[in-house]
Amino acid sequence: PLPFDAERVRADFPILNQEVNGHPLVYLDNAATTQKPRAVIQALVDYYEQDNSNVHRGAHALADRATQKFEAARVKVAAFINAPEARQVIWTRGTTESINLVASSWGRANLQAGDRVLVSAMEHHSNIVPWQLIAAEKGASVEPIPVDADGTLDMAALESMLDERVRLVACGHVSNALGTVNPVADIVRLAHAAGALVLIDGAQAVSHWPVDVQALDCDFYVFSAHKLFGPTGLGVLYGKRALLEAMPPYQGGGEMIETVSFAGTTFNQLPYKFEAGTPDIAGVIAFGAAIDYLNQLDRVGAAAHEQALLTYAEERARATPGIRLVGTSAHKTSVMSFLLEGAHPNDVGMLLDQQGVAVRTGNHCAQPIMEQFGIPGTVRASLAFYNTRADVDRLFEALEKVRQFLI
Ligand code: PMP
Repeated sequence: PLPFDAERVRADFPILNQEVNGHPLVYLDNAATTQKPRAVIQALVDYYEQDNSNVHRGAHALADRATQKFEAARVKVAAFINAPEARQVIWTRGTTESINLVASSWGRANLQAGDRVLVSAMEHHSNIVPWQLIAAEKGASVEPIPVDADGTLDMAALESMLDERVRLVACGHVSNALGTVNPVADIVRLAHAAGALVLIDGAQAVSHWPVDVQALDCDFYVFSAHKLFGPTGLGVLYGKRALLEAMPPYQGGGEMIETVSFAGTTFNQLPYKFEAGTPDIAGVIAFGAAIDYLNQLDRVGAAAHEQALLTYAEERARATPGIRLVGTSAHKTSVMSFLLEGAHPNDVGMLLDQQGVAVRTGNHCAQPIMEQFGIPGTVRASLAFYNTRADVDRLFEALEKVRQFLI
């Protein structure tokens, strides 16, 4: 691929070229969702203009074409995360549904009274609540792995918490609220040594650098297409094959069955066992286009660009009086969470928006860690590879105006 060039790449994302409230848009809300390259938008249009049909069941040309492209996308995603087999990639509605699937299916079959599930104290609600729901049903417990004041996971605490009652550790690869990169390979090693499985929430990781699920040796890895330059409403559950084979179905319906009778129903093989009903065919095919797009980028260069941009943004933040960074772990990516002293995060966000700068404010669906830090939330600027130093400069110019206005 050509050496990474953020300016050239920006041109692939039509949405970035617009004015908001009279100012050129600066999009710094990539942890909420990333923008889509033209190739992804075109794939959606092409699908509906040329191929729209239901998959796996039609005996006609359009259905064959749709099925072939739908399954080709699965193969692309499997290769993208280095899954051994495409059937280990299950389509879901998103990270949230992927976690709910594992909690419901694996959890219902495996958790017993007195069992423990460990989650990091910085988890997104979607990697806490599904475990609480199944734990309540089973008499199991969900316990937080402590996080230091700078947002680093306490690995010594994890080690001391692990015992034979811990059945699963569920941890984010990257924290959406703080940007902390967790040592997931180490977590997997420790958990496996204690006989526990590991689910990694990769929602905030996959867009930043190549992920290799076999190298990590994780049991489950989940993420959302929309945070990886693909469409909304689509996600991935990767699982080790033996685990997926042993897990009961999540939802019942068409496509997930082998035979149905009132005497008893048998279930389809992987991955279809977990894909009841008509899937998001257009979304899957367009997600395949997103993977193709990423594969032709210099991703090593893109990651280096993003990391340099985060370093630059944090240097500017440290040099700006009144800004307090929240989450200053030594291992971070892409997310700069902060407070402007004397101003509520929501007011800061609104005043930034008036200047064309899009950030997110609030607790970022991570209330426990905000509570631990004793803050109602933060202002979060989150980067993607199409962001530039000019975007970061615009953020700080706008913040200076906010400061003059509010303080
Ligand atoms: N986990 C993390 C770390 C996230 O950042 C998000 C999205 N904010 C989710 C889970 C949930 O993803 P989705 O809403 O796409 O299901």
